[in-house]
Amino acid sequence: MLVLDSSAFFSMESLPDEEHACPPGVIRELENHGDPRLALWGDMVRVSDCTGESMERVRDAAGRSGDLGRLSPVDLSVLALALDLDATIWSDDYSIQNVARIMGIGFRPVGMKGIQKVVRWNYQCIGCGKWYKERMPDCPICGSGMRACRRK
Ligand SMILES: [Zn+2]
Repeated sequence: MLVLDSSAFFSMESLPDEEHACPPGVIRELENHGDPRLALWGDMVRVSDCTGESMERVRDAAGRSGDLGRLSPVDLSVLALALDLDATIWSDDYSIQNVARIMGIGFRPVGMKGIQKVVRWNYQCIGCGKWYKERMPDCPICGSGMRACRRK
């Protein structure tokens, strides 16, 4: 089960093949923006309210971590709903992710951000100058050492 926040909806190209839920506030934000994805995917997403008890726990955790001021009421309801449903949050919001981490709620980022951070390397022989895609202890051609360069 995934709980989507508005940032997830706005950045998504397609729905992942899992069950989805979101609090009513996220649907209202999408309606306010006239987002076309709501018409496409609205029926596939379960809309449900969080419990007051979970909302209290989330407010408490966010207050202690200093995230409360950066979280909208809708953000808080996303966290609380994930707590109720024992779900994973799908969000790019840093404060949501931070509170989720503190409370032991699973989360995953939206889009490609995580992947873009992976640095890819090439290796060049310092002797003959030949390029390799994998690191080797020394150049198979001339036996010189290798240096790593960021792949462009
Ligand atoms: Zn070489």
